[in-house]
Amino acid sequence: MEYFHRSERVVPATVKAVKSLRITGTLALLCLSLPLAADHLDEAARTLSRDIFKQLIEINTTDSVGNVTTAARAMEKRLLDAGFPAADLAVLGPNDRKQNLVARFRGTGAGGLKPILIICHLDVVEARREDWTTDPFEFVEKDGYFYGRGTQDMKDSDAILVTDFIRLKREGYQPDRDIILALTADEEGGTANGVDWLLKNHRDLIDADFVLNPDSGGVYTENGKPVDVELEATEKLYADFQLTSLNPGGHSSRPAPDNAIYHLADALGRLERSPFPFELNSVTRAYFERMATLEKGQTAEDMRAVLRTPPDPEAIARLSADPRFNSTMRTTCVATRLSGGHANNALPQTAQAVVNCRILPGHSPEEVQQDLVRIVADPKVSVRFIESATGNVVDRAPAKKALPPPPLRADVLKPFEKIADEMWPGAPVVPEMETGASDSIYTMAAGIPSYGICGVAIDHGDVRAHGKDERLRVDSYYDGVDFYYRYLKALTAAR
Ligand SMILES: [Zn+2]
Repeated sequence: MEYFHRSERVVPATVKAVKSLRITGTLALLCLSLPLAADHLDEAARTLSRDIFKQLIEINTTDSVGNVTTAARAMEKRLLDAGFPAADLAVLGPNDRKQNLVARFRGTGAGGLKPILIICHLDVVEARREDWTTDPFEFVEKDGYFYGRGTQDMKDSDAILVTDFIRLKREGYQPDRDIILALTADEEGGTANGVDWLLKNHRDLIDADFVLNPDSGGVYTENGKPVDVELEATEKLYADFQLTSLNPGGHSSRPAPDNAIYHLADALGRLERSPFPFELNSVTRAYFERMATLEKGQTAEDMRAVLRTPPDPEAIARLSADPRFNSTMRTTCVATRLSGGHANNALPQTAQAVVNCRILPGHSPEEVQQDLVRIVADPKVSVRFIESATGNVVDRAPAKKALPPPPLRADVLKPFEKIADEMWPGAPVVPEMETGASDSIYTMAAGIPSYGICGVAIDHGDVRAHGKDERLRVDSYYDGVDFYYRYLKALTAAR
């Protein structure tokens, strides 16, 4: 889910920063009649989905000591037992521990449409027993919650999709097109990213009209009450830069005006005072349009004012004071690390900072590097690019642009809005721009429009992905099972 984004490959520590949506009194009232969608699940479906969830949580799929293949094989067996032909199931990957499962639910082909691909990662972030109240690799139900590593990110969705595939198969449902489920390795870390590997080695197996990725999106709740239902439709690009000022140094008893630390500090001061330009795209425009109906007063007015042509600069300035809105309206670059000097009584020979950027769709790290050089405006401060995969520092940042957002397609959005309205009435669907990155970066780069859609609700105050005592509300899980079952039917019912 956006501000709480379920996965971020590059900097796990920043995952799922929680969005703090202000709820209006009116909205809170609207939400009082919480529909118990979980009631729609019959006992058999609840048992099945719980069993699969438990099985997945208890298979350790961490990069260090876990095994993704074991989980992929277990889910393959579940699908085989439910009647999926072996020919429509494939377990494959670059090495023994990092095999991915690709399952194809055959459609009638009546609509002449390309398949829908759903991607879910099976791997989880490391978890240490001593940090947790319960064993992170034991599925524990306690006080209305399921506990275990992956209950939020994202074995819940792995289990939900496998369950719904089985339910649809058992009832003889025939989609009008193929639905492909890929359960994959190494989203959180490791070097064998399953989505990337499948695209490079078996594109035919997973080629699709569009991608659904339940790793982001989701129902945003405050104390269990739904506020909005989020659809992640585009992502910012991550980039780190290293700013360095070098100097011959010397004895600190005879300081010179030319000082590495002062050069760097002045450069960072200029960066602080030089916000990147305001820019909206189709997704962030839709975001502000919907948010304007949830907010009130000046904030709602400002949201409408930034949508006008030309946008109102004062409204932009006021909204920019809120980090959520600021990061939605522009590329951001911020100092995150600082070092310099080598002795208390010596002039510094080196001063260095890391600047972390989140780049808007349509722009490249190379472009941002040039912007930084211009903002720094000091030939004594170099601006170099830090490669995230290796940590190597290079002179030139990549020219590859963050992908422009995919269209908000009616064939994806309309059925989503319909089901969301049935299950969470009063909570609007709000398109989001993710400020991190999920596996959708691979499918988007491969030219397949990708959407973060998930029917699991996590409370604003209960985001624990990557953290200790990760847990998910039991009802929220069953709602998630119900949601994808209904949504897949709505997407693929013969027209
Ligand atoms: Zn994730």
